[in-house]
Amino acid sequence: MSSLNDTYRHKGLRKRLVDDLRRRGITDEAVLTALMTVPRHYFLDKAFEEHAYEDKPFPIGYDQTISQPFTVAYQTAMLEVKARDRVLEIGTGSGYQAAILAVLGARLFTVERQEALYQSAKDLLEQLGYGNVRCYFRDGTKGLLEFAPYDKIIVTAGAPVVPDALKQQLAVGGILVIPVGDDVQHMYRIKRLSKSEYQEDIFEAFRFVPFLEGVQKKS
Ligand code: SAH
Repeated sequence: MSSLNDTYRHKGLRKRLVDDLRRRGITDEAVLTALMTVPRHYFLDKAFEEHAYEDKPFPIGYDQTISQPFTVAYQTAMLEVKARDRVLEIGTGSGYQAAILAVLGARLFTVERQEALYQSAKDLLEQLGYGNVRCYFRDGTKGLLEFAPYDKIIVTAGAPVVPDALKQQLAVGGILVIPVGDDVQHMYRIKRLSKSEYQEDIFEAFRFVPFLEGVQKKS
């Protein structure tokens, strides 16, 4: 992990990144403020600290990556998070996206299938004082039934299909944001209109690490 020291230099680099995201079409000021607030370098290995404010994904171990800031901003804006929304994130990874959602006031439940990542993200989020984040070591293709329904659900891995469990765990009026596809994924926004009706809208293409079934224990 990087040192938990947020210097003027880090803040300056972060401001440049946020200005760049605004130029690239992210217009949601609450989301941009959240990206300005959360030190992304805390969520990266020391080896990548210098690059934390480049708009790129980076390895976090176990063949996984922290998403690119543009992707984090894009998905977060699509979720339309309001303070006190109950939000489920699938794919905790580094914990960065979770921290962004926490800053926006979500009551966040986040699920990770890699035990080692689950443990390190949980420890870091606790250390940083994000008390409104609850971490679970689970297979997120099943959602997190015991705390459903959720106002919002975000999936941060590329899904071959939309798991039915996630649609079922959405509150009426709720929004699911999920990248769907095999090699390349299109961002889907699925709104639950009633108990049985959903509205699906399809947006831009992205490339995510795969959404995998089952859990992976620490060896
Ligand atoms: N939101 C993360 C992105 C991590 S990459 C961040 O901000 O860093 C996607 C993560 O999804 C990986 O850590 C991967 O292990 C996890 N993942 C993939 N399939 C999953 C599943 N079925 N359930 C839970 N997590 C899953």
